[in-house]
Amino acid sequence: MSTLSSKPSTKPSRFFPKVSTPVAKCHVIDHALARTGIATLRSKTTELEEFRRTLSQLAVLVGIEALRDLETRTVTVETPLAVTEGAALARPVVILPILRAGLGMSDALLTIVPGARIGHVGLYRDEKTFEPKSYYFKSPDLSDAEVFLVDPMLATGQSAADAVDKVKSLGASRLRMLALIGSQPGVQHFHLCHPDVPIFLAALDPALNDRAYIVPGLGDAGDRFFGT
Ligand code: URA
Repeated sequence: MSTLSSKPSTKPSRFFPKVSTPVAKCHVIDHALARTGIATLRSKTTELEEFRRTLSQLAVLVGIEALRDLETRTVTVETPLAVTEGAALARPVVILPILRAGLGMSDALLTIVPGARIGHVGLYRDEKTFEPKSYYFKSPDLSDAEVFLVDPMLATGQSAADAVDKVKSLGASRLRMLALIGSQPGVQHFHLCHPDVPIFLAALDPALNDRAYIVPGLGDAGDRFFGT
């Protein structure tokens, strides 16, 4: 797999025009810890251990918001004192990290949905065209599942949109996209392709540079999370 490893440039993007209009169905969580966590991830002086810990905490914050309105069913629970009603998730949860940076988020999400099944979506960006290329895909049954695609950076939105194409073709109909930082052009592109799929973010940045990095962003999330 090839990855972009050189330093992000801050030149304006040649991919999409800079836009400032708000986009529909994009939930940017409003939480003090999301703001402080994003600042920690953005800082180029944040070291590996703190970067990992903070990315995991943010994945949980975004995950809690994204799971908020999942359908539940009523179950009977016997406490030590009485029988009462409780709730259980109505459908299985499947988490699909987009490799490789999505792995950091999926591990963290398992702390709030430990029974989730995990699939893997292998995509890399072509070094010349920056278009996503698929090299691996494996997932559990998606037809009746609540499916969460996860990738810390929703940059051009092309990988995410391609991944959604794939999982829809396998029968998934309840889909949500989770990322930590999205770019406005990427979010718009994603919603043009999949207006039915909501996005959950911790921050929404204005632009992409000419190497398809989010600006201000945090650099390469995979390199920073894995220490490469
Ligand atoms: N992937 C990253 O890791 N960072 C970006 O800014 C864009 C894509």
